[in-house]
Amino acid sequence: MPDLKHAKITPAKLYINGEFCDAVSGETSTTFNPANEEPITTVARAGVEDTDRAVAAAKAAFTSSKWATWPAAKRAQCIRAIADKIREHRMDLAERESIDAGKPIRETSTIDVPMAADVFDYFAGLTRAVTGDTIPVSPKMLNFTLKEPIGVAAGITPWNFPILMAAWKLAPALAAGCTVVLKPAELTPLTACRLAELIHECGLPPGVVNVIPGKGSVAGQRLVEHPDVDKVSFTGSTEVGIRVMRDAAATMKKVTMELGGKSPNVIFADVTDLDTAIKGAQQAIFYNKGEVCTAGSRLLVERAVYDEVVERLGARAAKMSHGDPLDENTRLGPQVSDAQLKSILGFCEAATKAGAKLVAGGKRAGDKGYFMQPTVFADVATDNPIFQEEIFGPVVGVTPFDDMDDLIAKANGVSYGLASAVWTSNVSKAMTFAKRVKAGTCWVNTYGLFDSAVPFGGYKMSGLGRDNGWSAMEGYLQEKSVWINLEG
Ligand code: NAP
Ligand code: MG
Repeated sequence: MPDLKHAKITPAKLYINGEFCDAVSGETSTTFNPANEEPITTVARAGVEDTDRAVAAAKAAFTSSKWATWPAAKRAQCIRAIADKIREHRMDLAERESIDAGKPIRETSTIDVPMAADVFDYFAGLTRAVTGDTIPVSPKMLNFTLKEPIGVAAGITPWNFPILMAAWKLAPALAAGCTVVLKPAELTPLTACRLAELIHECGLPPGVVNVIPGKGSVAGQRLVEHPDVDKVSFTGSTEVGIRVMRDAAATMKKVTMELGGKSPNVIFADVTDLDTAIKGAQQAIFYNKGEVCTAGSRLLVERAVYDEVVERLGARAAKMSHGDPLDENTRLGPQVSDAQLKSILGFCEAATKAGAKLVAGGKRAGDKGYFMQPTVFADVATDNPIFQEEIFGPVVGVTPFDDMDDLIAKANGVSYGLASAVWTSNVSKAMTFAKRVKAGTCWVNTYGLFDSAVPFGGYKMSGLGRDNGWSAMEGYLQEKSVWINLEG
């Protein structure tokens, strides 16, 4: 087991009904450090029986623990306590995240972990903001609405932002009064398992939070099919999301889907400072080694500055170097797995075959750890696979555009619609793009900003429903209308 400054790594367990336990089958998985390909530790692997136990615990906690009917202020205190615990153990969590997912410690310690804490803080506040309406239907009637928690919520999360995604699923569900079963991605379960230990100390009744690392095709699938799960909040690939939605339909579960993306990042020639826009484009694709659902993987550049942007972005990419994620100076870590690295290399090959021009990178970096060279392709046609398909790696395709109509056709000419950005000094162009782009987020003269208070989610094949903000709360509440006959 690795020797870390803050985290003491031990084999991770399931967390069911307030207890840490092994899987009934005794099965475990091993989680690896993608920077050195070495095993980190073992993690209990939930099977169907364990999943059923977790759902039973969550259901019992929902119906009898009074969590949902606790005074909102008391529930808020528990949720805020989770935020405080995360902050208290920031470096411990950051180290785990860095070795498990290959994310630089300078990011996990200053972005992922603090943001996860903030999500709990934000939703602790919203716990007390749940209200209904009164509706003036008739002088003889009083009508009002009650907002009630949906029940047992399942959270299923991907491997690219493990602790943050866990927070996105847990915090609004708890604030709404739901109980939760969280299934983290099997590739990166360490911070979710540690979070379970921290939550255990925060005074929530047993069964309100359950964390069951396991395979998507087993534990995940069972959660989606289980008749006692009332809601599924899924973040992952569009392919699996489609399947989850279909399987969830059999029991009419409410679903939230945060899926893939192919976000257009647009540079107009009239941008105030081209250098800032190019730096922004670099950050948009290479942050977290491109394993970001909102990665600016399609760079659309107005023809007048196209050649210059391609050349300068290529030069910047070629200068970037990799390092050990635990090193404070590292900005670029390894891809999460060998399979992911191979898939990215496959996309690079396909891009060249389809006529794109390789400007920088395109190869594996080194031979130990799953490091990939930051890669820039130019002259990417709209039917090139790297224009259409999510790569989930540090690969950007640059494409020129001529005018607003050409831009909009290109920007919207994919099945995804998660995020977008536009760099320009002209407010009309920025607003026109923001209104016409089919995406759940549009950044203007910036990229990649998130806030717990700001709704986040996808148009088109990028998803359904929203994480963060009041919109996320709505996803865990249902509405009842009550009619009172005033003359009865
Ligand atoms: P994935 O393969 O779709 O997996 C996501 C989660 O679903 C994992 O926990 C996985 O389990 C589980 N799963 C797999 N099959 C399942 C099934 N049949 N039933 C229930 N659960 C199942 O996605 P990924 O490769 O981990 O993550 C990358 C994807 O996530 C990208 O497409 C990215 O764009 C997307 N993403 C979207 C957002 C957003 O907010 N829109 C944010 C981050 C990532 P195991 O893998 O552990 O077996
Ligand atoms: Mg996967």
